[in-house]
Amino acid sequence: MPADYPLRFEPLFRRYLWGGRRLQTVLGKQIGAGDDYAESWEIVDHGADQSVVAAGPLAGKSLHDLVTQHGQELFGRHFPQPQFPLLFKFLDAHRNLSVQVHPNDEQGQQLDPPDLGKTEAWVVLHAEPGSLIYAGLKRGFDRPAFEREVRRGTTELCLHRFEPRVGDCIFIPAGTVHALGEGLIIAEIQQASDTTFRVFDWNRAGADGQPRPLHVDQALEVIDYDTDPVLAQTPTRTDRDHVTRLVKCDKFTLDRWQLDGEAPFGGDNRFHIVALLQGELQLTTRSSEHLVRKGQTILLPAAAGECRFAASSTVELLDMYLP
Ligand SMILES: [Zn+2]
Repeated sequence: MPADYPLRFEPLFRRYLWGGRRLQTVLGKQIGAGDDYAESWEIVDHGADQSVVAAGPLAGKSLHDLVTQHGQELFGRHFPQPQFPLLFKFLDAHRNLSVQVHPNDEQGQQLDPPDLGKTEAWVVLHAEPGSLIYAGLKRGFDRPAFEREVRRGTTELCLHRFEPRVGDCIFIPAGTVHALGEGLIIAEIQQASDTTFRVFDWNRAGADGQPRPLHVDQALEVIDYDTDPVLAQTPTRTDRDHVTRLVKCDKFTLDRWQLDGEAPFGGDNRFHIVALLQGELQLTTRSSEHLVRKGQTILLPAAAGECRFAASSTVELLDMYLP
């Protein structure tokens, strides 16, 4: 049974203190009761965390099964891969997330067990008035100056912050201190890693009334103190009017499509992760037709070949792939 059709997966929900219900109310996810739905992992192959194919001949297979049994069809020009290299999720930050940093690939290899590094990028889907993004250190904070504030519990003083607008893309290379502020809903593409060093938790308590553990020493070790304060990306034009490039780095490319009408898609012998942010998309492959709705994500294997996208009103989507 070939992996050559648009793959949908069951989302994996993560429930944390800082979550809410907007994965359902804004993105249409089928969540259960409770007001702590924080993350919807849409595409993941990381240890026991596995996306499972929801429909079609491959239903029930995990993403890692596809990597090992259908690698050529999935990856095309990027075959072979030891695991699916990217992780895509939606986050509902009802409260501030902890201030954190991720290692790079080299630092990740030193961990036990080893993990990939984590470079990530966010696209803001919703922001409340006054919602903030914390990204990078203010100028002038080297390691000793930063460490002093961290030990005093005043980490916030060092953090560069700004009020993002809907549609902004924020690029967070490994080693960049960051936090999502309350009120934001974002889409996040990242390396398939789950290593986070928490450096500050706003001096608050966790679910059990105790402060959540911090990883200050590891965080201080992996922070890149030379990076500038992080601002929203400036989108760049591509050779197609309906496509703008938000991020191009050595880990992934992130494009935004704003399409009204029809356009060809894919056919470049690589996989594409497609996440629909607005509208309804008709997706036609050689042998099948699919309707993709707002908040849904599909993985188009390299073997799907060139498809057609059609939108009867303006559709906005993210297209994510390996460089
Ligand atoms: Zn992060």
